Amino acid sequence: MEPFDVVDIIRAKRDQQELDPEQIAWVIDAYTRGVVADEQMSALAMAIFLNGLNRPELQQWTNAMIKSGVRLDFSKLSKTTVDKHSTGGVGDKITLPLAPLVSVFGVAVPQLSGRGLGHTGGTLDKLESIPGWRANLSNEEIFQMLDSGPGAVVCAAGADLAPADKKLYALRDITGTVDCIPLIASSIMSKKIAEGTASLVLDVKVGSGAFMKTQEQAAELARTMVDLGSDAGVNTVALLTRMDQPLGRTVGNALEVQESLDVLAGGGPEDIVELTVALAQEMLACAGKPDEDVAAALKDGRAMDQWRAMISAQGGDVDAPLPVAPCQHQLLAEDDGYVMCLDALQVGVAAWRLGAGRARKEDPVSAVAGVEIHAKPGEAVRKGQPIATLHADSDSRFDRALDTLEGAWTIGHDVPELPQSLILDRIAQE
Ligand code: URA
Repeated sequence: MEPFDVVDIIRAKRDQQELDPEQIAWVIDAYTRGVVADEQMSALAMAIFLNGLNRPELQQWTNAMIKSGVRLDFSKLSKTTVDKHSTGGVGDKITLPLAPLVSVFGVAVPQLSGRGLGHTGGTLDKLESIPGWRANLSNEEIFQMLDSGPGAVVCAAGADLAPADKKLYALRDITGTVDCIPLIASSIMSKKIAEGTASLVLDVKVGSGAFMKTQEQAAELARTMVDLGSDAGVNTVALLTRMDQPLGRTVGNALEVQESLDVLAGGGPEDIVELTVALAQEMLACAGKPDEDVAAALKDGRAMDQWRAMISAQGGDVDAPLPVAPCQHQLLAEDDGYVMCLDALQVGVAAWRLGAGRARKEDPVSAVAGVEIHAKPGEAVRKGQPIATLHADSDSRFDRALDTLEGAWTIGHDVPELPQSLILDRIAQE
């Protein structure tokens, strides 16, 4: 006999009442067990979308999702653990240089990651373009990588980590309930808290290529996640960062790995370096090491050495050439002038249509597909000059991608005034 009737819980949230801790614990558990049906959970998710959850309700909701699976425990490690999570953007390959960089300083980085869905890429999809690299590790292997191995690990979050979230996220994806702050915050934080990290730095994206289109929404999401982290004893801080144009000059799996290697070799695009350094400093400050010279570790090869150790430990051949697309198509500037803006969302959707991303989680992705950007905001272009190269497995992919890119570059006659920094704000525990 079940202690509650789910219809009473749906009605209560529909009528803007506060749910009891017992009701929340039960509904998440019963949904995970299959006692609450998908259509009932959809109704509840929509009621939450419309009426929200207050702080105690959200904390309870997040705890219930954590309790649906296992909780990793890194307390026996000889070093402290710090993770980074990005709410997802276009060309966001920061984890690739960041995890090895932070591990240079003796801090363990357990980066349990996901695959891409829709126009935002997934870290695992990118790393799988490295020949031999394997995403699935046992909990013992993760522990060993952090303790006696390279000290950083990027791998798939196991199926036993917050399984309630996996089921609920798939349901939200098809019921118009993804872009809801309490549901996003509890989804992300349940996985991060279950992962067992001592500290967490959140990169909350703002702009056309992000979930949160305005700084106000992003700040609310960041504050909600920082509060959830603190309530669970995880030292949490968030940076709000711009996502109105793609990060770096590549969007696509192998293309982004190559760009990350450029950064690890001491070069690479300035925006990627700026964000990698800023996030590394935040992570190290959380770990009690606020004064390390992280930029130097990118320049002098220490971060690259850590990368090579981390990738080889997971079977990746660090010396093998990355795969290259058999088909390429150049997009040419239609005017002389300066690039005023470049729309992140359009470039992300184009890369997805070229084959770099998936529409359903079972779909395969292409390692080689994507967009290489030759002209970014602030740069001068001449009519007929290539502003991007599209990469794909087949020429048949180009037409739809080109339609998507229509108007993505705005070219004007005056030099645009561009923001000085990618970082808009910082939100910490109160
Ligand atoms: N990422 C997640 O893990 N969950 C969400 O709800 C949104 C983004």
